[in-house]
Amino acid sequence: MKTIGLIGGMSWESTRLYYEHLNRGVQQRLGGLHSARILLSSLDFAPIATMQREARWDEAGELLASEAVRLEGAGADLIALSTNTMHKCAAQITASIRIPFLHIVDPLIAALRADGRDRPLLLATRFTMEDRFFVERLEAANLRPMVPPADDRIALHAIIFDELCKGIVTGTSEQTAKRLIADSAADGADCVILGCTEICMLIQPDTVSMPVYDTTALHTAALVGAAV
Ligand code: GLU
Repeated sequence: MKTIGLIGGMSWESTRLYYEHLNRGVQQRLGGLHSARILLSSLDFAPIATMQREARWDEAGELLASEAVRLEGAGADLIALSTNTMHKCAAQITASIRIPFLHIVDPLIAALRADGRDRPLLLATRFTMEDRFFVERLEAANLRPMVPPADDRIALHAIIFDELCKGIVTGTSEQTAKRLIADSAADGADCVILGCTEICMLIQPDTVSMPVYDTTALHTAALVGAAV
């Protein structure tokens, strides 16, 4: 089994989900007492969130790249980043390591294509919804992602940082997210991407009227496949 080098802590609420999904996935694949081989670098999110707010992406990328190099040196066979937003810095990471980097958007694209989706609603941080790094990768795969209107993007971003990244899940925020999904269905969306690794804490797929693509579940499943 290969060793997964995971850069996490952004937030740790989603990294704990990664840890659980990776171990359960390996256990399901190999049975018995098998569990995932993981080297985890769990970062302090506060300084990174400050870098995000201040648009110091190069500095954040350097930090993540140095963590990837450390994990490679410690014996990781592949590297993953358990946050969608910080994939804005993916190029800096891949340029600094020799082992594979498993980009979070790639298993998402594979799943959308396999199901013949075309017009996904992207729910994520404002960085992921508004900067091009995530959307352009989907568009390069001939998908036509849509995002909520500006006011709703601000509201969703606040839910992610003020609540979900602190482990707070409220019925009010769940209703907000469901309203965004219902609005997008009326505007032609054919599915919804949970494009933030904490949003799965808020939205359960079986309570939503559209097909749901959870980046946390898809990314971890791809990592398990690569590791086993
Ligand atoms: N984990 C989140 C994501 O998937 C948000 C936190 C962050 O900005 O890294 O985008």
